[in-house]
Amino acid sequence: MSVKAPPADGFAASAPLVIIGAGAAGLCAALAAHEGGAEVIVLERDSLPRGSTALSAGLIPAAGTRFQRMLGIDDSPALFAADLKRKAHDEANPSIVDAIAREAGATVEWLAERYGLPFSVVHDFDYPGHSARRMHGLPSRSGAELIDRLRQAVEEAAIPIIVDATVTALYGGPDGIVRGVEITRPDGAMDSLGCRALILACNGYGGAPALVAQYIPEMKGALYFGHPGNRGDAVLWGQALGARLLHMSGYQGHGSVAHPHGILITWAAIMEGGFQVNISGARFSDESLGYSEQAAVVLAQPAGIAFDIFDERIAAIARQFEDFRQAEASGAVIDASTVEQLAERLNLPASALVQSFAEVEQAKRARAVDHFGRSFANAAPLLPPFKAVKVTGTLFHTQGGVAVDEQARVVSAHGMRLPNLFAAGGAAAGISGSHAGGYLSGNGLLTATVLGRIAGLSAAAALVK
Ligand SMILES: Cc1cc2nc3c(=O)[nH]c(=O)nc-3n(C[C@H](O)[C@H](O)[C@H](O)COP(=O)(O)OP(=O)(O)OC[C@H]3O[C@@H](n4cnc5c(N)ncnc54)[C@H](O)[C@@H]3O)c2cc1C
Repeated sequence: MSVKAPPADGFAASAPLVIIGAGAAGLCAALAAHEGGAEVIVLERDSLPRGSTALSAGLIPAAGTRFQRMLGIDDSPALFAADLKRKAHDEANPSIVDAIAREAGATVEWLAERYGLPFSVVHDFDYPGHSARRMHGLPSRSGAELIDRLRQAVEEAAIPIIVDATVTALYGGPDGIVRGVEITRPDGAMDSLGCRALILACNGYGGAPALVAQYIPEMKGALYFGHPGNRGDAVLWGQALGARLLHMSGYQGHGSVAHPHGILITWAAIMEGGFQVNISGARFSDESLGYSEQAAVVLAQPAGIAFDIFDERIAAIARQFEDFRQAEASGAVIDASTVEQLAERLNLPASALVQSFAEVEQAKRARAVDHFGRSFANAAPLLPPFKAVKVTGTLFHTQGGVAVDEQARVVSAHGMRLPNLFAAGGAAAGISGSHAGGYLSGNGLLTATVLGRIAGLSAAAALVK
């Protein structure tokens, strides 16, 4: 990945604004830039835009929306911003956090009203760290539906998405101005495309094992559950152009991916009163801190394995997620009418599982905080039939990236704005700080959709100046 001098004989073609990556960030940026009057081309390495967006549950946190008001949920951007800052231990730039929390509601409503995305709020369980129910999702609660609907909106707006077009280099100079991109086709053919502004929307470095080992040693060798085409290009180009790299050790992990099925098991299984044990049948953590930090905690258990223990009531809530329905269909969800039978089916020591179960249920009855620090004050008891899934911890996506300002303009190592470079989604430094524990549920699509929209509007405004 390099930044080279523009071709001496000029570019084969050019567009005012080029966007690299057709995930949620790139497609939101394209829609916003088009609305802002910019002529835009999106370049995507795959034959069909999918990205990590398609692998996600498609949930976008937003505060003060009409969808929340319809359910009587009291929330505000200020409350949301406070939650984001608290979870990230105040490591993220507060003015960017405030801007994103403020714009999230407008972004969800924009996608709903202008492009017909039928959002609703996940209203039947709490996500860790959110002080209001504010996760907005589409009917299937899947990112595949989100990306398909965004792509449809982009196509209806007649914005070109060039697929099978991997950007393999940027053209620029020592002045930091990006002049164009080099495109490599699957058959090795190469093209060049000039531009006056560029948006990096090609996500992070989860698909680049060497960069993961360099920046996130605790996830070295861990299963990467995101899109394999996200190979850190934005970071490498940004570095070559003098951009500041920020929070490179930050990431979103997940401590509940069915093993060996490789299917995400919603954290509702835990937050609604479920818990995790290891292969000895013993609990090992306060699971309610969050699923992101739980990835490393689960991987540190013997064999890197844990079991989610819950019940039919919780499974009924989890069934709103396409992933969970798939997990059931593929046999990942084990059920039993007694805890002893569950232990037998999971091949766990029965006495240890019975004891772990009894301790959790006692903490619920006493409305107590357990010895890991988890409060069971409002949790319902687990009742038969009981459910369990064997899970492991994985890396979902990286949270470090090129630093941006409130307008999604890339910022240099010296704090100056790069002349015509913007970034959004996983390509930009996130708002989760430098640890997995700083990731508040939904931060990924939050910065993809909200910063994507901001990047598109800013780039369009810069072009018409
Ligand atoms: C299993 C899973 C579940 C998740 N669930 C949630 C959730 O419910 N809520 C949430 O907020 N977040 C969730 N996330 C995180 C979320 O999916 C990401 O943060 C978000 O999709 C990032 O969007 P993006 O547009 O930046 O990247 P992507 O959607 O990954 O899109 C980037 C695109 O860029 C393309 N690309 C990369 N390099 C190049 C190149 N050189 N040239 C051309 N194209 C290139 C890729 O092919 C890809 O299509 C989840 C992630 C995973 C893995």
